[in-house]
Amino acid sequence: MSGHARLKAQLEKKLSELLERASEIEDGLSSPGSTDWEDHATESEDDEVMASLGDLTRSEIHEIRLALSRIESGHYGTCVGCGQPIATERLAALPFATTCIRCA
Ligand SMILES: [Zn+2]
Repeated sequence: MSGHARLKAQLEKKLSELLERASEIEDGLSSPGSTDWEDHATESEDDEVMASLGDLTRSEIHEIRLALSRIESGHYGTCVGCGQPIATERLAALPFATTCIRCA
């Protein structure tokens, strides 16, 4: 199972970066807003952008955690659809892929 050690390290690094970003986004969202109405409207728009950024970050965090758990269980690189190995080129392009090209 040591074949994915390098990838695992990369994923863990990426995961910690994303967790940091996620907490920064949440800090931004929870910061007290201005009571001025015009400012408030602008802040709401910013919040929406930040919220969707947060969603993206969260789903990426989820995918990385999934990939890490699959590496740990020895299932990484195996298609969840047909059980066949996922092509190396596909994994290189899509490190979190859980299906082969045929099952995607
Ligand atoms: Zn497949």
